[in-house]
Amino acid sequence: MTDLSDEKAREVSVTGKRCTGRVIEEHRERYYIQCGQEVIEAGVSGKIMYSSENRLGFPAVGDMVIVEYLQDGSGVIRELKPRTSVLVRRAAGRHAGEQILAANIDYAFVVMSGDEDFSLNRLDRYLTIIYEGGIRPLIILNKTDLLSEDMRDALLNEIKERHAAIPVIMASALTEKGADEIKKELQAGKIYCFIGSSGVGKSSLINRLTGSEQLAINPLSTASAKGIHTTTYRQLIELQNGSMLIDTPGLREVGLTGSDAGIDETFVDISGIAQNCRFRDCTHTREPGCAVIAAVQEGVLAAEKLENYLRLKGESQYYQMKDYERRQKDRQFGRMIKEYKQRHKVKK
Ligand code: GDP
Ligand code: ZN
Repeated sequence: MTDLSDEKAREVSVTGKRCTGRVIEEHRERYYIQCGQEVIEAGVSGKIMYSSENRLGFPAVGDMVIVEYLQDGSGVIRELKPRTSVLVRRAAGRHAGEQILAANIDYAFVVMSGDEDFSLNRLDRYLTIIYEGGIRPLIILNKTDLLSEDMRDALLNEIKERHAAIPVIMASALTEKGADEIKKELQAGKIYCFIGSSGVGKSSLINRLTGSEQLAINPLSTASAKGIHTTTYRQLIELQNGSMLIDTPGLREVGLTGSDAGIDETFVDISGIAQNCRFRDCTHTREPGCAVIAAVQEGVLAAEKLENYLRLKGESQYYQMKDYERRQKDRQFGRMIKEYKQRHKVKK
């Protein structure tokens, strides 16, 4: 291949042998790539490292990449194939950039647990990054064994009222309830991810799926993953029916990047109602002739849903601001707090 001749001259240990494979694990910028029967450990080329403007230019679990073998048996990732979808969140920290959770996912299972973790607002947040990334969502309500039948029905209703069109699977990793329904969703060649707060039971559900006979893990991947610890980073496993699962562990915080399209799709009912607002740039907060506020007043739209929509829109817009705009906004906010405190003090 002629396009490599330059880099070959610089990197004496390259062998010229290449393969195209999928990133199945990522661990501090070392990647494990399934190339046919073998798994090769690789870093990224200098070109990828220095030409990427942000994290989106780096490989992620699920990506298809071209790897060149080095003489020591490891590899260099030369090229990322175009992605069909990408799951992105804002990395922790107020001014942090984007972080890719996984690439090329077809369906995302949002796992919630029926105990104290249950939060429709957090569900909206997950759905936003899922839709924004071009992925289709399903919802799993786990730990239903801890709930009375009435509680189960009540929570299911709450989810359905908030998101009528998204399939919901009632599950328990403990009793295996819902396992068959989840299995039925898994198609060969498709990639699924499990996303949700830590502790909701993602690993337990995945273990249930991979532990059962029909969905045992493909021996290829298990052999390769031997000796690699699996708790703190993302990993893709292939099931014997040819479907692939990605666990995204340890998400304590899912901040939004610019996600306006994802928000509009998550809150498709609000987007629809907003068509009837008097002003095209209506913010649905105080404008006259706002159809969205009217819908809340008429009881057609839940006030909490609008509130969360506005919160997520605000977060998405804040992310897209230029630095000086953010500083201005932060200063305004600071002034507001100060004024509030002063007024409060005077009153006392
Ligand atoms: P993850 O952080 O989302 O991967 O959650 P884990 O799979 O590690 O589960 C967290 C805890 O919840 C563990 O103690 C599990 O045994 C427990 N757990 C998981 N699923 C269920 C379930 O369906 N019912 C009950 N009662 N406990 C569960
Ligand atoms: Zn409006």
